[in-house]
Amino acid sequence: MAATTMDPDVRSPFAAPRLTDKHGRAITDLRVSVTDRCNYKCVYCRTGTEGAQYSELPIADYLRMVRVFVSLGIEKIRLTGGEPLLRKGLIEMIAALAEMRTAFAADGTRLSPGMGQPLDIALTTNGHLLEGLAQPLKGAGLDRITVSMDAIDREKFSRITRVPDSFGRVLAGVRSAKRVGLNPVKINCVLLRGFNEDQIVEFAKFSREEGVIVRFIEFMPLEEDRVWTPEVVVRLEEILAALNTFQPVVPLAPNIASETALRYTFQDGLGEIGIIAPVSHPFCGHCSRVRLTSDGKLRTCLFSQSDHDLYGVLRRGGDDADLAEFIRRTVDRKEARHHIGEPDFLKPSRSMVHIGG
Ligand code: SAM
Repeated sequence: MAATTMDPDVRSPFAAPRLTDKHGRAITDLRVSVTDRCNYKCVYCRTGTEGAQYSELPIADYLRMVRVFVSLGIEKIRLTGGEPLLRKGLIEMIAALAEMRTAFAADGTRLSPGMGQPLDIALTTNGHLLEGLAQPLKGAGLDRITVSMDAIDREKFSRITRVPDSFGRVLAGVRSAKRVGLNPVKINCVLLRGFNEDQIVEFAKFSREEGVIVRFIEFMPLEEDRVWTPEVVVRLEEILAALNTFQPVVPLAPNIASETALRYTFQDGLGEIGIIAPVSHPFCGHCSRVRLTSDGKLRTCLFSQSDHDLYGVLRRGGDDADLAEFIRRTVDRKEARHHIGEPDFLKPSRSMVHIGG
């Protein structure tokens, strides 16, 4: 398809109307899954069995699609998976993303440094391979990191991840990330009744001692094994009650309107806790996110019943304008909200490890 068909909106990110959906939400946040392989088998995410096929695209193809998203006004990119640190070529990919901070027009027009929108590059990892990779990640241009940790107690940690002796490696990874300046380091903890709800206060202490932001996440029905029930979810109010037994919690103002976490500190101002409560306090009205799966499908909601084959457009020879048009049309139809806990709730078409958390 000839470059002359290029939509002028694509050529100039500044003149282009922002990527928005039909509900008027600006879409500024893209999560890119670079593999759906994982070296953990967390009980609430994956089945315990091996053998699943995995899907990965060439790094250059992810970059081509991401570049078009950035030209449409995406400001934040989070690399995820699967486990992104397993992905060969990840460091080079981050370096190429960092270059887009100054050169991101879809038709190759180079913009002057400092003129472009800021591009925040973050990554979510289980931390198992992080200790040795923190410095190369930072050096390539990664801004921030989130490490998933579901227990401080080592035995519980192994019981949840189904990997023996992994806690020490993850802790070393967290400290290494802090040392090299991948700040703020955030810790994500999914709470599951019967597994780790007794770890809430331990995590509060961890936030204070290690100087990291700990975020508790309500368990969502996105697991491979379909074990979710409302009773397993540890809800916001219960988390706050547990934190209050340690020290009175004090709410903090949101950093931005679309922030997913409600923020808290303690009376003495030490430590920061976030609570992400998509089940008990949905935040869909502020959702600014879309996802690109490791096989190149565009997903407009974690709970979508289908996804949209953006990579198919590329594979069939589509140019950047075709990709941009496909993205615009798909994003426009983003779902208003999820229906967790409602009688009409349908499980999503894919599980978290295959979507990219
Ligand atoms: N492997 C990386 C990691 O462990 O962070 C990235 C992928 S993982 C799917 C991303 C995040 O999703 C993790 O923090 C994980 O705990 C969270 N997650 C997975 N399944 C979830 C579920 N059903 N409900 C809520 N969070 C979930």
